[in-house]
Amino acid sequence: MTTPAPPRGFTTEDYAARMARVVEQAVEAGLDGVVVAPGPDLVWLTGYQPTAITERLTLLSLVPGARPTMVVPILERPDAEAAPGAPAVALRDWTDGSDPYRTASGFLEDGGRYGISDAAWAAHLLGLQHVLPAASFDGLGRCLPMLRAVKGADELERLDAAGAAADATYREIVEVPFEGRLETEVAADLARLLREHGHEQVDFTVVGSGPNGANPHHEAGDRRIQHGDAVVLDFGGLMYGYGSDTTRTVTVGEPSPEVQEVHDVVRAAQQAAFAAVRPGVPCQEIDRVARGVITEAGYGEQFIHRTGHGIGVTTHEPPYMVEGEEQPLRTGMCFSIEPGIYLTGRFGVRIEDIVTVTDEGGRRLNNTDHRLHVVV
Ligand code: ZN
Ligand code: ZN
Ligand code: ZN
Repeated sequence: MTTPAPPRGFTTEDYAARMARVVEQAVEAGLDGVVVAPGPDLVWLTGYQPTAITERLTLLSLVPGARPTMVVPILERPDAEAAPGAPAVALRDWTDGSDPYRTASGFLEDGGRYGISDAAWAAHLLGLQHVLPAASFDGLGRCLPMLRAVKGADELERLDAAGAAADATYREIVEVPFEGRLETEVAADLARLLREHGHEQVDFTVVGSGPNGANPHHEAGDRRIQHGDAVVLDFGGLMYGYGSDTTRTVTVGEPSPEVQEVHDVVRAAQQAAFAAVRPGVPCQEIDRVARGVITEAGYGEQFIHRTGHGIGVTTHEPPYMVEGEEQPLRTGMCFSIEPGIYLTGRFGVRIEDIVTVTDEGGRRLNNTDHRLHVVV
């Protein structure tokens, strides 16, 4: 198979525009600014990911009317300078033995109200709070949960590529033998295929055979796959820095009538939730639609997780398709729709596609067949 050309890299201007947008959103949310620690938010805003996240403080401050400023340990300054977003940021280094929180606090106001990355270490937040006793901090997941939720065309291009690579992985994994092999062996095949199809990072390779499929958090273990098993395959990672995440359930040999029935219900739930996607619909409605189909069929108690999660520079992020999430879907959002039914001690079925919101409705980023596939 031919691999399409990699997407154009993000430019300094791209990152500068994201930082400006975050400042706007912060002001709208009544904040005096945002402070960003190493992790997904910093990668998304600057392209910078310190090679090792340590106790030494790295912190980006975004406040209205000021140039974005990043405090970095002096020994990491060359790495920070090499980040594609760095030319849009003023770097301030600090040396061991000085107080980095004093340096960082110079860009913030005591008494101000700031959003801070969920991934910031508690030690760093406490350090800031000590030098800014009257300032208040709130996690970005709470005060600006939709910060990265709406994807630009250049991000969708990457998510599309990651989805296509995950689909290619699925089309090949159903050709490998299952019966008599360990779950971990099939999981290793999944990881190899994801990398072959362009992923630079594999985040998870779930192979839940027979009763293990009834535990949604089972990854892969030393169970030997048997004839008649339903097998949940859920895999994904990062490609060009953006996530993939797809699930299909296969059977080893012809399915029992019960496995087929449960699969039909999950498939109908996934389709109904997908059909409900359009701008303006609250996230919780997607969950309600999927859950409605499964409850109607009598399996409501066996659908034990939310219907979906957002995806972007991480494989799990807002928006969440869950009861109580009233945020409306917006064009450009990307998330999973992954209903499942779990029959404890016996088997599980889940079907998951990544979907994006367009003005006309949903568009799937995963396009492999939803029919129950028989493997050998
Ligand atoms: Zn067989
Ligand atoms: Zn998944
Ligand atoms: Zn998922």
